[in-house]
Amino acid sequence: MAALAAFFGALLLACGSAPPPPVQPPTAAPDPVVGELDRLLARPAQVTTPGGVAACLRQVERGALCPLEELPPWRVIPVRVALDPRYHRWPAWRERLARTIACVNTFYQPTGLQWRVREVFDWDPGAQRHELYGLLDRLQRELPYDGRSVRLGISVWEERRIFASSGGEIGLSQYESCVVPSWPRIENDCVILAHELGHLAGAVHVPGKHWIMGWAASPFHLPAGDPLARVTAVYRFHPRNRAALLLARGAQFTPGGLALPEACNERLRQLDACYGL
Ligand SMILES: [Zn+2]
Repeated sequence: MAALAAFFGALLLACGSAPPPPVQPPTAAPDPVVGELDRLLARPAQVTTPGGVAACLRQVERGALCPLEELPPWRVIPVRVALDPRYHRWPAWRERLARTIACVNTFYQPTGLQWRVREVFDWDPGAQRHELYGLLDRLQRELPYDGRSVRLGISVWEERRIFASSGGEIGLSQYESCVVPSWPRIENDCVILAHELGHLAGAVHVPGKHWIMGWAASPFHLPAGDPLARVTAVYRFHPRNRAALLLARGAQFTPGGLALPEACNERLRQLDACYGL
């Protein structure tokens, strides 16, 4: 907790939004994980683009494909939630769901994209509750596409069973729908939901542990003592995915998922090339 307090103290100072503190400078060491992520963010990926990543990004910028200024500054995407009735057993489940979405929206805040629950209804996964492929298929059959919201199925996993019968997945998405497990700790739910909704909005997997879309991320191994605030400090969107989410403010609903104009897809392809993705 001391390290966390030191981190937030340092963050406030760095932002210049707080007056000089009349207290001793923090004595605790900076949080190593957050420090590592800051270094990763500051230093572009090591790829062999002529002129380097920064030059490549400038070139994309000059191409002026799909300019952000032409998009709305923010966008709220409605979510229809098909909820395992077992979710009602979590203490204060309504508040838990609201806190989970609020946590997810913290990650999306810098992109102008926000998710809002439009509807919640009971949806019993039954014996299929660990079979995410089967559940995603069921969700798409039982909750018809409505052309204006995304579909989210939540299956409660009280135990930490992950790979035995879920097809090796801890979350699954297709088109504009996704299914995720809900574990006892809200922190797990938040990171996994942020990841799957990211797919629906055009984010892709990136190498690295602390990106929300990182294929090496281990959200189910979050340290037990971690408060939500630290989770939202440690996990972030890679710059490529931040760009995709910014562009998603202009996406259209289609039966194949949220779709961008071709110029925006081309911009993302160019960014992928810059980052070597
Ligand atoms: Zn994924």
